[in-house]
Amino acid sequence: MVFTDSMGSAHRAVDPSIHSGQAFSLSVCRTLQEWFEVDDLHCITFVYVPSALRWDIHGEAHKYITELKVRVGRHKTDNSIDVLRSRAAHSVLDSWSSTFQDPTYQGSEFLELQQPDRWLIQPSYFNGGSWLSTFRHSITEFARICQCITGDAPIGAYYCHFKINEPHGCTCGAALQSHQHVLFHCCNRYSVHYPRFLRDIASFLKHNPTVFGFNRDSSGVG
Ligand SMILES: [Zn+2]
Repeated sequence: MVFTDSMGSAHRAVDPSIHSGQAFSLSVCRTLQEWFEVDDLHCITFVYVPSALRWDIHGEAHKYITELKVRVGRHKTDNSIDVLRSRAAHSVLDSWSSTFQDPTYQGSEFLELQQPDRWLIQPSYFNGGSWLSTFRHSITEFARICQCITGDAPIGAYYCHFKINEPHGCTCGAALQSHQHVLFHCCNRYSVHYPRFLRDIASFLKHNPTVFGFNRDSSGVG
């Protein structure tokens, strides 16, 4: 039975795939393999014990281990796979963020949205992406949010840009029906009005199910 305050570390200790500390994991796996082969009844139970509990012998072990400082490599800058991965990821994110500032990359109609902390939403891969993570549950809702954010939706500004013979103005009387206008300025009686953040737009689309959506073709195509 193994008592641990980190199930992630426990998983990693028996993970033979490529990662920092793989040599230790392979050593653990080799030892365990021999031990398991001796008797079919051999098994290991991992028990999660939060270190904050300071539980008896586990508390003593935690204190001993956290006081033990082991330097890996001769210099602080020595590379490990995790460090190299982290550096590569941050480098890509920096490059992505700076490229995203270019309107020709972002798209001239791309809808800029603030996060609750007032910073503009920036590209990221964390948790499925800055925009996509908010709209995972419905493919139709996801399609409409893409149309809403990019402006590629059946609205006046889109018709104007692509010279489509449809009205450019809004039903409220505004000369141009852009996605910013529909979301933030239109005086039409939408069910929910003037969303501020990404989650508010999800609510706006939910309560106004036809906005930014293309009507289904009667033949079932498109
Ligand atoms: Zn309007």
